[in-house]
Amino acid sequence: MPKSNYVGRHRPAARPSRGRQIVVPVALLSSTVAAGLVIRDAGASELSPEAAAMKNVSDSVAGLGSVADPDVVAAAAANRAGARSSRDIAGDARTVIAGATATATQTAGEAQVAADKAAAEQAAAAKAKADAAAKEQRARALAAAHRWVSPVAGYSLTSGFGFRWGKMHPAQDLACPPGSAVRALSSGTVVFAGWSNEGYGNFVKVRYWDGTVSWMAHNSRLLVSVGEQVAPGQVLAYSGNTGHSTGPHVHLEIHPDGGAAVPPLPWLAAKGVNL
Ligand SMILES: [Zn+2]
Repeated sequence: MPKSNYVGRHRPAARPSRGRQIVVPVALLSSTVAAGLVIRDAGASELSPEAAAMKNVSDSVAGLGSVADPDVVAAAAANRAGARSSRDIAGDARTVIAGATATATQTAGEAQVAADKAAAEQAAAAKAKADAAAKEQRARALAAAHRWVSPVAGYSLTSGFGFRWGKMHPAQDLACPPGSAVRALSSGTVVFAGWSNEGYGNFVKVRYWDGTVSWMAHNSRLLVSVGEQVAPGQVLAYSGNTGHSTGPHVHLEIHPDGGAAVPPLPWLAAKGVNL
């Protein structure tokens, strides 16, 4: 008898019988599952090849924790009375364990894909919302910049567009107290601001965003200069009685596209400004 650390239990025969190959490992497996002691306490060198295989299965099952399918154990138990060898059982167990591991890996991968997809959808939704808000803000800003307003707050209509004393008067006169605020009709650029030698006195012209040019004459004082950008309602001047004028008023002319003057009242009414 060779010297070894044999502890005197289940000494395998040189060539174990077929029956012993089945019974011993299964018994070991059951003991291991029940108590977790028997196989671990014995050295692998003391086991038959079949028992060693089952030790591997047992260790795998024990080490897998929650990932291991209880079916592994059930399958082993179901095979207890069968004629299959412990190698087959070990193979089956490894297959199930490998399958469980693959399933766990696949599930983790699918979860990652789902998380990535959800994050991408959330980011896309946030971007769409921001884009919509920016678009709405631009639309509001544009609508505000393109609105039309009255040139003077308190006025009375005097001379209108037409012939006056045998001469064409291409404007609407708005009588108002001297020093009244004279405002830009919409957003635009100041194209003239200064004294007129043709009777307009302190004179200001603004070209608006749609190409229309307004003339406002006889002002007491100008507040803007050529090239200045103005917003709807911005004060361009204070009204007065300068130039060829018979009384304090604003002389307003409207020149679509900078061309010939048109009657101001219907033109403003079409913009929603009713004088
Ligand atoms: Zn006039």
